Amino acid sequence: MEDNARPVGFFIHPDASLHDTGWGHPEHQGRLRAVASAVGQDLLAIDGKVIQVEPGKIEDQDILRVHTESHLKTLRQAVEISTEESRLVSIDPDTIVSPNSLNAACGSTSALVTAVKMVHGGELSTAFVATRPPGHHATADRAMGFCLVNHVAIAARWLQVNCNVQRVLIIDWDVHHGNGTQDIFYRDGSVYYFSLHQWPHFPGSGSIGEIGEGAGAGMTKNVPVKARTSASEYCGLFLDNLEQVLGSFDPEFILISAGFDVMEGDPLGDLCLEPEDLHFLTAEILRRAPKECGVTVTLEGGYDPKRTGLGVKAVLRALAAVDLDR
Ligand SMILES: [Zn+2]
Repeated sequence: MEDNARPVGFFIHPDASLHDTGWGHPEHQGRLRAVASAVGQDLLAIDGKVIQVEPGKIEDQDILRVHTESHLKTLRQAVEISTEESRLVSIDPDTIVSPNSLNAACGSTSALVTAVKMVHGGELSTAFVATRPPGHHATADRAMGFCLVNHVAIAARWLQVNCNVQRVLIIDWDVHHGNGTQDIFYRDGSVYYFSLHQWPHFPGSGSIGEIGEGAGAGMTKNVPVKARTSASEYCGLFLDNLEQVLGSFDPEFILISAGFDVMEGDPLGDLCLEPEDLHFLTAEILRRAPKECGVTVTLEGGYDPKRTGLGVKAVLRALAAVDLDR
C-alpha cells in the first residue's frame, strides 16, 4: 500500500489530562486541552488523513525494561500518599505527583507503544502521541524535570523486544537536553540519541563531548545551541547533524521527542522556532529516513499552550503530507 493511503495516527490517553501538578505549574492540565483543540480546529485540512486511535495497555515488564523496580515503587508510593492525604506530592521542586499521575504517565506510554506497534505493523504511516507528563528527563531510577517515566525509551525497548527492531534513532528537539534518554542508552550500541537543545540551560547536561561510552561510544550526538539562535541557523544545524547521524547509523525506527518549548515565546526556553520550521523539520526527517523506517512523534515540553497547539498542528500536517498554508 502507498504510504499516503495509510492514515497518520493521533493518540491522547484519556488519563493524561488528569495528571495534576497544581496551580501555576507550567506543565499543567490545560496543555493537552490546547493541543486537542488545535487539532480539532484543523480537521478540515487533515480529515481522512489523520485518525484518532485508542491506546492499548502495557505491562509493568514493559516499563521495567527501562526503569528500576525501586523507581516504580517510589512513584506508586507517591501516588498512594497523594490519594490517601488528598494532596499533591513533590518528588522534587519541579516534579509533582497527584492521584492520577501514574495512570497519566503510563497511559501515555501505552499510547506511544500502541503507536509504534501500529506504525511498525503498517496499519499507520506515522503517528503523533500527545503524552503527559513528558518523559525525556526521567532516568532509569529518577523522576525529574516534570517527567515520571521515559516514554520514548520504553517504546524503543518495546520495539526491540517485540518487533525484532535492532536499531532505533531518537531525535530530541525539545529546548531542554533529554538527560534521561541519553543516560538510559549511553552505553548502548543499538539506540542512537541525537539532541539539539539550548545550552547552557536546564538540566545542564548535553555538552558536545558527551558522545556515549563502551558499546554506545559515538551513539550519542549533542548539538548545544545558544539562546536566541535564529530559526534558520537552528534548522541548518539540525539538518547538517541529521545527515551525519543517518550517514553513520541506519535506523529501523525513529522516535522523535518533540518539545514545543523550542518555539519563540515559550516561557521555559529562548529559542525561536515557528510552526513552519517544525513542519519543515518533520517533513525533512520523513524525507531523509531510510525506506521502511517507522517514524513516530511524541510530545515532550511546550509551555505556551496556544503556541504548542499550533506547533502540534504543524507537525501533524507534515506527518500527513499537508502543506501548512492551506
Ligand atoms: Zn523541555
